[in-house]
Amino acid sequence: MDAAEKNKKTLKSPACIFCQISARLVPASIIYEDEDFIAFMDAYPLTNGHCLVIPKQHLVRLEAMNAKHRAKLFNIGHKIIEAQKKAGLGIQGTNLLINDGKAANQTVPHLHLHLIPRENGDLFKSLPKLFLHITGLFGLKSSRTKLNTQADLISKQF
Ligand code: AMP
Ligand code: ZN
Repeated sequence: MDAAEKNKKTLKSPACIFCQISARLVPASIIYEDEDFIAFMDAYPLTNGHCLVIPKQHLVRLEAMNAKHRAKLFNIGHKIIEAQKKAGLGIQGTNLLINDGKAANQTVPHLHLHLIPRENGDLFKSLPKLFLHITGLFGLKSSRTKLNTQADLISKQF
């Protein structure tokens, strides 16, 4: 059995795009990985350098995650923000965001922490993209080359 076949067999929830990313069945620009979590560039970034941290386990809501992993998720988020800053992103500010449930505009039903670098006065620029995210349309995908370059840059700063 080759690696792709093995990944398919261990896929937590086959229809879930984030489970597919975690099993390396679809392309993603990965920044960080350990036995429980994986972090990668958002493919439709709200701002430059927007990242996501997800548990490898298929969990939809924060309430399904144990306390140890909730703390770990926040710590990984913090480490990535520090790495983003060293890479020149999010120096002025960052939104740490969990859309926890459909009513809270969660469009991908696999728990994820958004890390969204911010600059003073950039809200107006981000509003059209924010609207597309809330509707689940997302807008235009960023180029894989650009996302890979950013992921490399951020991951080098750990
Ligand atoms: P939410 O609305 O909180 O569920 O956010 C879902 C996020 O997943 C959005 O920011 C999307 O841009 C992002 N997203 C959706 N599909 C992919 C994908 N294939 N790779 C990376 N990010 C994705
Ligand atoms: Zn999943």
